[in-house]
Amino acid sequence: MTQINTAALQKLDSAHYLHPFTDHTDLAKKGARIITKAQGVHIWDSNDNQILDGMSGLWCVNMGYGQQSLVDAATKQMQTLPFYNSFFNTSVEPAIELATLLSEITPPQFNHVFYSSSGSESNDTILRMVRRYWDMQGEKQRKTIISRKNAYHGSTVAGASLGGMTGMHEQGDLPIPGIVHIEQPYLREAVKDKPELKDLSEDEFGIVAAGWLEEKILEIGKDKVAAFIGEPVQGAGGVIIPPKTYWPEIQRICDKYGILLISDEVICGFGRLGTWFGCETMGTKPDFMTFAKGVTSGYIPLGGAMVSQRVVDVIYKDGDFNHGYTYSGHPVACAVALANIKLMQKLDIVNTVKNDTAPYLKKMFEALNDHPLVADAQTLGMVGGLVLVKDKDKNIGFDDDDNVGMICRGHCFDNGLVMRAVGDRMIIAPPLTMAHDNIDELLSKARKALDATLKDVSK
Ligand SMILES: *Cc1c(COP(=O)(O)O)cnc(C)c1O
Repeated sequence: MTQINTAALQKLDSAHYLHPFTDHTDLAKKGARIITKAQGVHIWDSNDNQILDGMSGLWCVNMGYGQQSLVDAATKQMQTLPFYNSFFNTSVEPAIELATLLSEITPPQFNHVFYSSSGSESNDTILRMVRRYWDMQGEKQRKTIISRKNAYHGSTVAGASLGGMTGMHEQGDLPIPGIVHIEQPYLREAVKDKPELKDLSEDEFGIVAAGWLEEKILEIGKDKVAAFIGEPVQGAGGVIIPPKTYWPEIQRICDKYGILLISDEVICGFGRLGTWFGCETMGTKPDFMTFAKGVTSGYIPLGGAMVSQRVVDVIYKDGDFNHGYTYSGHPVACAVALANIKLMQKLDIVNTVKNDTAPYLKKMFEALNDHPLVADAQTLGMVGGLVLVKDKDKNIGFDDDDNVGMICRGHCFDNGLVMRAVGDRMIIAPPLTMAHDNIDELLSKARKALDATLKDVSK
């Protein structure tokens, strides 16, 4: 193996590379962990530590690392036609073939796709389409999009505005006008402001939380609301799995007021929840689906918006919709996505997740609830989350400055596991290709990390 000089790389990294979502003072002090290679469900760092990837890279490497058919598809396409655009009446084969396949595997209301290169861009596209739709319908007053606090919809101006992260809104005068947020369906958080909710069952709480959408619609004016956007399971917000009653009630409210529903499937799409798309698990019929990440298993950037027939019929009725990206329908990205989806179909991965991997993960992960630090350990499909608590019997949580999540995350790395911390929540989104022995490895490492964290916080 060629020797990698970690210290030298870390120095250059800190000197020249501005990282996404990173405290650079801290980075300069500690140095970045440099990942050098990956195979299957494991990654290696520059000190040759083997680490189990419990986060699929960043929620995207759904089919695991080292899939040769994806590499071959990219190579072949780069040799044949590395780039051509789809502007002004031109097109490219992989984009056409992928659009056709996406129309087949998505719910029946979807027959069209608009391509971008990321989830953020796709949500920008959707915001413009929503406004265009209502303009064309002669309802120019319908401008407001309702989203949720603690949602993540990307990092561009529209993406961050649609998202409900206060830390992002504070930097750069966001959200932009016309976007408002309601509370998320997270009971543990909701009772902090509304203690009267504490005796509700999960199912009762789901109806109450969905009702906050109706309250907001009536507050704004029911003819002024254009759309509602949500992730089936809030990912970056800490894997907030809503009560079963939540999404059907949201759908009922959207239908009642005729407002468009956007399902941001950037994480939940492509098998993550044990169905091809998260809306199928949740029982909704969205007008738009945002996708990115898992569509190519992260091997190359690609994103897009699935647009329902109802919307296409209006906004593409006459004239241009003046919108597009240089890389919309990029042939190499589309070729890799095709190979990825065909591999998913060949391995029947969605059914394997639903009937085998996800139930096993659920059993193993939810067993962590017996740990003295852990409450609410819960999975849905191949995502899971738990909350670290200070006093389990009295149900008292940690304070923000306890930094308990980051302590636990550090112990995970030290034990050869990537698990992500979101405040006091520890979350996983492992590759869909994980076998039972990988899940066993994940859980035994997680338990060791929890024990080490408990030792630290008991000091
Ligand atoms: C990651 C993510 C995005 C943003 O995607 P990018 O490719 O990072 O722009 C949007 N929505 C959700 C739900 C995400 O998880």
